[in-house]
Parts: sequence; C-alpha cells; structure tokens
Amino acid sequence: MPLSSSYTDRLYPVLENISNHFNTPFHIYDEEGIRNTCKDLREAFSGIEEFREYYAVKALPNPRILEIMKDMGFGFDCSSITELMLSRGVGGSGEEIMFTSNNTSPEEFDFAEASGGCILNLDDISLIPKVPNMPELICFRYNPGARRTGNDIIGNPTEAKYGVSHDQIIDAYRQAKERGATRFGLHTMLASNELHYSYMVQTAEMLLELVEEISEKLQITFEFINIGGGLGIPYRPEQEALDLAAMGREITELFTAFKAKHSYMPGLYMESGRFVTGPHGALVVKAINRKDIYHTYVGVDACMSALMRPALYGAYHHIDVLGKNMDGETETVDVVGSLCENNDKFAIQRTLPVITDGDILIIHDTGAHGQAMGFNYNGKLRPKELLLRSDSEVELIRREETAKDYFATLEFTEQRLKL
Ligand SMILES: *Cc1c(COP(=O)(O)O)cnc(C)c1O
Repeated sequence: MPLSSSYTDRLYPVLENISNHFNTPFHIYDEEGIRNTCKDLREAFSGIEEFREYYAVKALPNPRILEIMKDMGFGFDCSSITELMLSRGVGGSGEEIMFTSNNTSPEEFDFAEASGGCILNLDDISLIPKVPNMPELICFRYNPGARRTGNDIIGNPTEAKYGVSHDQIIDAYRQAKERGATRFGLHTMLASNELHYSYMVQTAEMLLELVEEISEKLQITFEFINIGGGLGIPYRPEQEALDLAAMGREITELFTAFKAKHSYMPGLYMESGRFVTGPHGALVVKAINRKDIYHTYVGVDACMSALMRPALYGAYHHIDVLGKNMDGETETVDVVGSLCENNDKFAIQRTLPVITDGDILIIHDTGAHGQAMGFNYNGKLRPKELLLRSDSEVELIRREETAKDYFATLEFTEQRLKL
C-alpha cells in the first residue's frame, strides 16, 4: 500500500481535529514511520562493517526531519550551499556530510570548505584543479555509460549529465592523488524510484569491480563505495514494496566475498531520500468546489505548488477521502488545484468516493519531493508542514508562506547601470 497502514491508523482518527486546529492545506509527516524505516535500513546492512546512510536533503529539507535523521545516526547528502547550511544547522559536520554537487561553482567549493569541510563527491575530472584545497578524502561520481536502467527519469547514463566517464575515471583518481588526496571513495547514482532491488545489487557489484580495477592500477584502497539513492516506494496500491531485506543480504554477500579476496571491507554508503521519508508524508487538502462539464472536477484548496510530481512526471499519488470509503457510492473525477495550468491536477479520471465541499482529502506519499519541489508560479504560496510526533503531539515544523514572503525579493536597494 502507499501510505503505511500504521500511519493511516494513527492519522485518520485524529485528522479532523488536526485540520480544524491547523487549517488545510498542510503536509503532515509521521515521525514513527520515518524512524522505523531508518531502523529497517540500518538492520538490512548490519552485516557490513561500516554502513552509512546520507539522507538526501533535497527530498525533505526541513530541519526537524533532519534532526530525526541525525538522531538515527544518518549523515546528509547535499548539493547546494543552502542544503549545506541546513545540515550544519542541525549539527552535521565533517564526514557526516557528503557534497554531491554537479556543475559546481567556485562559491560552492569555497563554502563547503569554509563552513567546516565535508566529503567532496566530484562530478567531473575537470573539477580537480578547481578544488581550492584538495582534502585528504575524495570521492568521484561515476557514470558507467550505456547500461540497462529500466528507468525513465534518469534515463540512459550516456544521456545523463552526471559523473565521470569510464574512460576518465582512473585518471581522475590519479590526478586527485597527485594533488594530495590519500583516502578515496567511489560513488554512483543510477536509479530513480526503482522497486527492483536487484538493480541496486548490480550497482554495488559494478562499483566493487571498479574499485578492484582502480586499486590495482593506482595502488590505492577505497574507504567506501556509495551506491546513491533511488530506492523506490510503491505509489500505487497494487505495487509491491522493494525487498530491502533481500537487497541487504545480497549486497552483504558481495562485500563478504570482496573481503575474502582483498582482506579488507570498504564501507557501504547510501544516499536515499524518497525511500526514507516518501511514504511517511501526506498532503491534506479540503474540497472547496466541484464542477460538471465534460469531466467532473473536484477543486481542492492546494495546487501543484505544493506537489509537482503528478504534473511534472504524470506520477500517481493515491488519494483517500476522510470518513468515506470505496464501499459506498463512487464516481470518476479529476482532482484539481487552482493554478492556470491545465496539468494542475492531483488525479486524472480517478474513481473515488463521492466528494462534497468540505470533505478532507489525503494525498499520499508526499514525504519526499513534495513541499521541497514547490514553487510560486502564478503567485501561489506553499502550505505549512506538520509533524505527527512519536509522543502523539502534532508540531508545526514550517509555517505556510504568506504574501510578505512572496514580495520579499522586491525589497532591495535601488541600482542602475548607466550605459
Ligand atoms: C536525488 C538524489 C538522491 C536521492 O534520490 P532518491 O530517489 O530520493 O533516493 C541521492 N543522491 C543524489 C546525488 C541525488 O541527486
């Protein structure tokens, strides 16, 4: 199922109360569920000597959520200055932070260093001389080129802008070593929302083989491989969850075999975002209008500024109507926002219980790339974020945007350039 049933069991009985107090729309996240997924992830790789998850901050960049990650022993994967600031703000430091930027600017390199250092994960060989001070520990993002992905968001890696090609990867480590690096990691990120765990096992295998090849050529060893994020979640009710336990078992076997051959075991790092928080968030909205023209449209009080995925990727997000189920009367509708874009639809031709004005709708799986991808086009403002805490309190963890926020960038000192 999309939202875990333990979350819906906890949330739905109290949701009317929460909606009355905080007012819709809002994203609400489940601390209990997030912590349980963090534990599952650690448990799956407990047979590996050093396992670390660097939570991909872009998935849900809220300090309260990042505090939970920190408390669960996770680090942070960042790719911008503000993400670095967020991670440092919750106490992340040094090698607890991985900077996986691409098309990196001098300002980003400077900030990463000046703000306390982190693991630099370089996206290209040309960046080596551009790193102001080569740190001891360096990592490269690898792009293996043509490779079956079965995945249409990242697509064929030969078409992807990321990473160092196979031709350049050995040279990249050689040059980093010449600039003074003495400790090494190897990273790749090839999947997105992948539900077949064997794909991640193949990725680990490919990286371990590459580690052997580079180690042999350059007489270096690797502290870790990082297999990236991209673990999928079942957005549709009929989809099966990724088999994390099997993935853990098979990757652990690869690491054990590597150790038997080379007498050391590199660490396994991951940087999942979606898998960790995606299923533990929901966007709660209220039905405010309905119209019957060629289709029936249910208008709700949030729009794609709060959740872009359906419009951007045609992504499916499951929807429940509070207090109504599919055993009662149903109808087929489009659930829409108020943006002047015809793709501003949370669901298209979806069969749902009959909805009347004032009904509360729960849009599932917004705990990753939901609020975070929001935007202000058409003057639309983003909703607040709430946390259903493990102690059964509900905490406001980000207020809704106001018109004042929207106009904030129009307050500036006048400047003109005479030409
Ligand atoms: C987006 C991203 C992730 C996380 O991806 P998920 O699909 O959320 O697991 C990890 N690493 C990098 C470099 C990314 O860009």
